[in-house]
Amino acid sequence: MTTTAPPADLPSATPAANIYAPARAILIGGGPAGLMAAEVLARAGVAVDLYDGMPSVGRKFLLAGVGGMNITHSEPREPFLSRYRERRQEMAALLDGFDADGLREWVHALGIETFVGSSGRVFPRDMKAAPLLRAWLKRLRELGVRLHTRHRWLGWDESGALRMATPEGERRLRADVLVLALGGGSWARLGSDGAWVPWLAARGVPVAPLKPANCGFEVPGWSPFLRDRFAGAPLKSVALSLPGEPPRLGECVLTQWGLEGSLVYALSAAIRTRIEAEGFAEPTLDLLPQRTLEQVRTALAKPRGSHSMAKHLHRQVGIEGVKAALLRELAPATAFADPSRLAQALKALPVHLVATRPLDEAISSAGGVRFEALDQASMLRDLPGVFCAGEMLDWEAPTGGYLLTGCFASGRRAGLGALDWLRRTREAPESSRP
Ligand SMILES: Cc1cc2nc3c(=O)[nH]c(=O)nc-3n(C[C@H](O)[C@H](O)[C@H](O)COP(=O)(O)OP(=O)(O)OC[C@H]3O[C@@H](n4cnc5c(N)ncnc54)[C@H](O)[C@@H]3O)c2cc1C
Repeated sequence: MTTTAPPADLPSATPAANIYAPARAILIGGGPAGLMAAEVLARAGVAVDLYDGMPSVGRKFLLAGVGGMNITHSEPREPFLSRYRERRQEMAALLDGFDADGLREWVHALGIETFVGSSGRVFPRDMKAAPLLRAWLKRLRELGVRLHTRHRWLGWDESGALRMATPEGERRLRADVLVLALGGGSWARLGSDGAWVPWLAARGVPVAPLKPANCGFEVPGWSPFLRDRFAGAPLKSVALSLPGEPPRLGECVLTQWGLEGSLVYALSAAIRTRIEAEGFAEPTLDLLPQRTLEQVRTALAKPRGSHSMAKHLHRQVGIEGVKAALLRELAPATAFADPSRLAQALKALPVHLVATRPLDEAISSAGGVRFEALDQASMLRDLPGVFCAGEMLDWEAPTGGYLLTGCFASGRRAGLGALDWLRRTREAPESSRP
């Protein structure tokens, strides 16, 4: 578990065979994708300079560790790949080189043990990101990676040089190869603000607009009673269904403006797409997923005597608190006079969602550099020598470790692609180099 050997097919720097020695790689973005690309290049002996606009690298990665770092998922390959939805094929190609098992081995090699939680999610033993990042940065420094924090890339100048804002003022940089791993557009205060989108678009790179993924959704207006009394309350053990999607079981949170939380995130791509197409989405909440409709109906049909409806719901089916308030808010008043209709409402309560919460609040971004813009090595077809990785690519996935797995795998692919590019350009006669 504590060996520091590289994963099986990572090239390693042996001085005699180091054809990359004088080559210089510039990497911009010190999140998991950029750091992984740096590791691949540095292991092969390339001089790596990694730049990040923030005072330290890996800030979003560290935040991901705050509530329990979920690094990957243990489910079999097919369901795992299905989490990437329309980008299943492209992500399968990236994960071929570095899948969930490969990622776990790599984590173990940093001296960090992992375990599989009851949900199948994989966590570092202590659930934290900081020890992993510390061990990784130590390894990268030992490999010679030079980290330049507070260096913010500003795009290209007219001559094609990189414009870099540094504490000493703006500088121009050139490299033999460039890897961009700039992240998406959420949580801008942690460094990834999507400022790169127009710079790449101006150079002809097709970029899908960044959109919130794994985000909350807005309901046109909770009543003041629901908002004031229950905003922030968790809705535990409920199921959410949207036609065309498998129902999800889990929990979410009722907020001032609507719903958020892991259950909603799991369906967020489908909900967002439906809102874009139709102006709204109406998933249904099952407040009693452990009971069948028939069971609920039978329980509610029992005489309630002098008990209030609230008491009856509590005694017969355990509905109280935020669940009872939500039922009152969303079920038609007439349903409360009819056990059969009330049971139906409890099992499929329509929630009218009209908008995503803003991108900056989202866990991750959808959109980004379109895969058609990249060759198989993750190099931009129209910008030879420039590679892209991580969340800045046009894919999305639910929470559950799929995001980080995709970022690590794409960072590794970009690093290997950059190495191959260096090898090919070095082998090519001087006159035919770009
Ligand atoms: C609250 C939260 C919890 C999460 N939990 C999980 C989880 O448990 N499991 C999971 O799989 N994923 C999780 N994620 C998502 C995961 O953290 C991200 O998908 C991942 O960090 C993206 O990696 P990246 O390397 O592509 O980009 P980032 O981590 O965003 O890194 C990009 C880097 O580029 C730098 N940068 C950007 N623009 C410039 C520029 N112009 N010049 C210089 N530097 C620049 C930024 O400063 C940043 O350091 C979570 C995210 C959040 C917000």
